[in-house]
Amino acid sequence: MNTQAIVAPVAGRDYPRNWNEFLDWFASEDACLGYLEKLRWPSGFVCPGCGVAEEPYRSNRARLMCRSCGRQSTVTAGTIFDKTRTPLRVWLAAAWYLTNQKQGVSALGLQRVLGLGSYQTAWTMLHRFRRAMVRPDRDRLKGRVEVDETYLAITDREESISPVGRKSKTTKVLVVLAVELLQPKGFGRIRLRRIENDSDACVVPFVQACIESGAQVRTDGSAAYRTLSALGYDHQRTVMLGSDVPAHVSMAGVHRVASLVKRWILGTHHGAVQPGHLDAYLDEFVFRFNLRTSRSRGMLFYRLLQQAVVTEPVTYSSVVNPLSNPAKQG
Ligand SMILES: [Zn+2]
Repeated sequence: MNTQAIVAPVAGRDYPRNWNEFLDWFASEDACLGYLEKLRWPSGFVCPGCGVAEEPYRSNRARLMCRSCGRQSTVTAGTIFDKTRTPLRVWLAAAWYLTNQKQGVSALGLQRVLGLGSYQTAWTMLHRFRRAMVRPDRDRLKGRVEVDETYLAITDREESISPVGRKSKTTKVLVVLAVELLQPKGFGRIRLRRIENDSDACVVPFVQACIESGAQVRTDGSAAYRTLSALGYDHQRTVMLGSDVPAHVSMAGVHRVASLVKRWILGTHHGAVQPGHLDAYLDEFVFRFNLRTSRSRGMLFYRLLQQAVVTEPVTYSSVVNPLSNPAKQG
C-alpha cells in the first residue's frame, strides 16, 4: 500500500513554504540528501539489495551500508539523480523553479536563472524531471470522459543539442486527449498522448490504457471509436456534422485542454519541440494540469521530488533520443 498518498503533505514540514525557507532547508549537499532520503524511504531505509528494513551503517550522508547483507548504496542510486555530476542543490533549485512557474520554464530560462554553465545541463535536467512527472501506477480516468484528437504545430528547432544555425521546420503532430468531466461542472484529470494517425489502432489502445472500463466515453462521430461499446465502455457519440451546436460547446473539455496545450507549447517553449520529445512535454503539461488545484506551488515541488526518487535513472542517450527507448512507444 502506498502510504505516501494517504498522508497529506504539509507546507513548512514536508516542503518549503517559500524561497527563503528553501534556502534555509537546502543549504548543503547533506541537507539535500537527507531530504531525498526521507522522500525515498518515508518509513526508514529499506535495502535495495535484500529488502531488509533496518537503519543502515553510514560512513557519511551519501553512503549507506545494509547491516544485514553488507550491500553499499546511496540515496540517489536507482533514481533520476543517479550518477549526476550536478550538485543536488542545483537539482532541487531547478525543481523549485520548474514547479513554481505556473507555465513551467524553458531550458534557456532555467540555464539563465540558475547560472548554469551549459545549456545542455539545463535541458537534460528538465527532461529527467519530465520522466518523473508520470507515475507508472497512476489510476485511470473514470466517470464521464471526453476523448478527441487535435493537431499541434511544433517546430523542429528544440534548443536541444546543436542549436546553432539549424533551419527550423514546422510539423503538425496529432495528439489524442482524454478529459474527465466533473458533476455538476468542471474538469477533473487529463491524459494526453502523441499518435501516428486517427485510426482505431491508435486511439483505442489509448482509451484502454487511460480510462477505466465501464466509464462513459464521449467522442465525436469518428468511426475509429466504434469498438468502444464492445470493449465495455458506455460510448456516447456526439455527431457534429450538420449539428447546430459548435464543437467547443458539445465537447467543451477536450477543446479547452487542447487550446491550453497549444498556448503552453507556443508560449513557454516558443513552439520549439522536436516531435520525438513531444511526449515528455505532454507529460509535464498533464502533471501541471492534474495538480492545478493544489493550494500551494510547493505541493508540486514535493510531488515531483517524491516521484523523482522512485523513477528509474534515465540514460543521456534515451533523453536525447526517446524513441530509442522501446518502453516509451505505443
Ligand atoms: Zn541488504
